[in-house]
Amino acid sequence: MKTANNLRAHYSTVIVGAGPAGSTLARRLASKEKDILLIDGGALRGEKVCAGLISPDAQDLLARYDITLPGTVLSSPQIFSVRTIDLATHQTRHYRRSYINIDRAKFDAFLLSLVPDTVDIVPALCLRAEREENGFSLVLKTRDVEKKVFCDRLVGADGASSVIRKCLFPNKKVKRYVAIQQSFAAETEDPYYSCVFDSATSPSCSWIFFKDGMLVFGGAFENRNPREAFEAQKAKLVSLGTVSEKIFKSPIKTQACTVLRPKLSGGMFTGAGGAFLIGEAAGFISPSSLEGISYALASAEALFEAFSHAEGSRQAQHLYKCKTFKLRLKIGLKCLKRPFMYDPLLRRLILASGIGSIKIK
Ligand SMILES: Cc1cc2nc3c(=O)[nH]c(=O)nc-3n(C[C@H](O)[C@H](O)[C@H](O)COP(=O)(O)OP(=O)(O)OC[C@H]3O[C@@H](n4cnc5c(N)ncnc54)[C@H](O)[C@@H]3O)c2cc1C
Repeated sequence: MKTANNLRAHYSTVIVGAGPAGSTLARRLASKEKDILLIDGGALRGEKVCAGLISPDAQDLLARYDITLPGTVLSSPQIFSVRTIDLATHQTRHYRRSYINIDRAKFDAFLLSLVPDTVDIVPALCLRAEREENGFSLVLKTRDVEKKVFCDRLVGADGASSVIRKCLFPNKKVKRYVAIQQSFAAETEDPYYSCVFDSATSPSCSWIFFKDGMLVFGGAFENRNPREAFEAQKAKLVSLGTVSEKIFKSPIKTQACTVLRPKLSGGMFTGAGGAFLIGEAAGFISPSSLEGISYALASAEALFEAFSHAEGSRQAQHLYKCKTFKLRLKIGLKCLKRPFMYDPLLRRLILASGIGSIKIK
């Protein structure tokens, strides 16, 4: 780890954000070049809000790098089915799912630990970025110092509220929700993972899961009155008997953040003019399930390959766009699938049919 004071003034590549996307790109690029700075403001931004479930797609990508997860990253319990609950019709179904339940902070720290020490890593917030004649300038802030750094090539891997996207591409807007998540002591509840739908309070979905003795309830809501919608859903879950009133009465922790919802009409953007976006900063996240770790890993790999095969930024930009075509197509198909999950009538029919569901004995 570097401090702001012992950073160099100029780097060939600066990556802003050391989540799964930024750490993966830094690790891969380090095998090809030495002049990389990786910046993460997590220490100043607070704990990341996440359900901490590693999807089969993300598992495949980790396997491709021959990465195994140490037991210390895993959370308890591991669950093999998801219970879908429709709060409007009170329909419930279980579906087979193979997620790995992890501690998100430990998972991110583990991926960061794989970045070779030839990469300079600094715990700092990027306050702003500007395009300069031959590259970019960034203003970084640690707890007590501000510092300016220059680079030839800039990568925004800084997640849903990307400063790089806002500063350099202010017109590339993307639909946003407010995600709210609360944790409760779970001593008396049976562990399960649930996906909750309630069109009256949210155009997206909510979730209940268990992690290391805690029951966590969270959801994504429209920007207007998200907290009211969140509390309304809690009241409905209590009246349905899904979670007891006693448990919901005493939250131990309340968190909120932005989550993106790319659409067919826009939201995904890979960058331009020597500045590249990867992971959620590029709008790469599932619009239906809000699963984003696999897209972060896949887009980091795509940019690494583009950098490895291109001569110059212009060609890298083109190659990166081509290499993320499948990823963008996948998100596009999920946009098409979304109405089947979120349209109340279609959902009602699908749940009533029981297709693909598991009978719980
Ligand atoms: C409530 C919720 C639950 C979710 N649950 C899941 C789940 O279970 N499974 C799943 O696959 N996906 C989940 N997601 C999505 C997933 O968390 C993201 O899509 C994924 O983390 C994106 O990875 P990333 O590396 O692109 O960005 P991030 O993981 O967001 O990492 C960005 C990094 O950049 C840093 N950063 C941000 N701004 C700055 C700045 N200005 N200066 C310096 N550093 C900065 C942050 O500290 C952070 O470490 C969830 C999202 C939400 C909101």
